Amino acid sequence: MESSIGIVGSGVSGLHLGLFLLANDVPVTMYAQNEPEEIRRGRLLNTVGHHHHTLERERSLGVHHWDAAEYGYVCHHHFIAGDQEVRFRGDFTHPSSVIDYRLYLPRLMEDFQERGGKLVVVDALGVEEVNRLSSRHDLVVAAVGRGGIGDLFPRRDDKSPYDRPQRQLSAGIYNGITYSEPKGVNIHFSPGHGELLELPIYSHDGFATALLFEAIPGGDVEELARVQVDEDPTAYDRLVLEKLRRHFPMAFERVDSTEFGLWSPRDLLQGALTPIVRRDYARLDSGRHALAVGDCHVVVDPVMGQGANSASYSAWTIGEAIVADHVYDERFCERVARRREEFVISVSEWTNLMLNPPPHVLEFIGAMASDKALCDEFTTNFNHPDKQVDVLGTAERTRTFLEMRQAAAVGNRG
Ligand SMILES: Cc1cc2nc3c(=O)[nH]c(=O)nc-3n(C[C@H](O)[C@H](O)[C@H](O)COP(=O)(O)OP(=O)(O)OC[C@H]3O[C@@H](n4cnc5c(N)ncnc54)[C@H](O)[C@@H]3O)c2cc1C
Repeated sequence: MESSIGIVGSGVSGLHLGLFLLANDVPVTMYAQNEPEEIRRGRLLNTVGHHHHTLERERSLGVHHWDAAEYGYVCHHHFIAGDQEVRFRGDFTHPSSVIDYRLYLPRLMEDFQERGGKLVVVDALGVEEVNRLSSRHDLVVAAVGRGGIGDLFPRRDDKSPYDRPQRQLSAGIYNGITYSEPKGVNIHFSPGHGELLELPIYSHDGFATALLFEAIPGGDVEELARVQVDEDPTAYDRLVLEKLRRHFPMAFERVDSTEFGLWSPRDLLQGALTPIVRRDYARLDSGRHALAVGDCHVVVDPVMGQGANSASYSAWTIGEAIVADHVYDERFCERVARRREEFVISVSEWTNLMLNPPPHVLEFIGAMASDKALCDEFTTNFNHPDKQVDVLGTAERTRTFLEMRQAAAVGNRG
């Protein structure tokens, strides 16, 4: 047998798992679609913020190459546009950071290879090929993102409330926007039109601002996800400025229009994704099992910045389970499914809730606007999606939580 674990895909989930297994002397082969250099030269993949729990795993793996104290950010600034502008801030207990994945992934692929990991570059593997290569491994981990072989893992209708994208996305890296103080991710709401996430990103030419427009279908911001940038980049810049002015004035006020512009057309990503939860694992024709991880298992809209963090959490859970066991059968797969369930399903439930916030969630956001300690807690709980669902999962949970908080505050004063 050539090697015991085969990982298909070299995104964050595949890499965190691969590096974990190497650190624990488990033989592993990673099947990637691209050489590191191709990713470096490629188009923007996403604009991912890693939160403290993910950065801790990077530190433990020895791949925290961009010190969060220097490259990271410490808070979320919230801005709600309207007749009465609302601004409020929530601080993290520990910093998060946004490193362009075109720097991050190639560097970790090189770490993987330098540490003796076998990285095989292949064309996109189909289900047949995965079946074939499974005979060479004790376990196949499907870390293919939203790629084709996800179909191996049927959709869980009980956990997948949407059958279409809830937002149209435009993510790009721009010059000419001054950071807020303290350095943070800015979350802007334009009721009826969507959100704008303004992220302090570190990319190929240094620090800049990533603008991720989360446009509600049919709203006025949606065209940013559709207009072709390659045809006329300057016209696209003008359009972005116009949307900022009209919908996100509290970002627009920090724009220097003489400097403002997309770095280049390759620094823009447009599209949309449908949130979905899939079954955890599948039995292959070879009799071996394939486990889904990351986006191959659970896809969430990026509005709450959770997909990659959840992918890393899930990879770690699989790694620990592999090291602790010696047979990777259905019993093993079930154990992994149970161990990660609360975290990854909470990521999905919380994010889906925030995409179409019911009144009790809006009430909670209103409460945060006048209670900084509450907003700090919510912000830090970007590391604890299960706690977010504990508080926001139902109207009763939110109401009881806010009442208990108020009672405690009165008690403290009295
Ligand atoms: C605009 C945007 C912003 C985001 N912001 C955040 C954020 O702030 N925080 C956060 O946590 N998440 C964020 N996300 C989500 C995050 O990017 C994903 O959840 C995460 O990258 C998924 O990692 P993965 O390893 O599962 O898959 P991927 O990163 O998609 O990696 C999959 C890999 O598998 C390879 N592959 C695919 N198919 C095959 C095949 N058939 N055979 C072989 N190889 C294959 C691909 O080439 C790729 O290398 C954002 C996403 C977007 C689009």
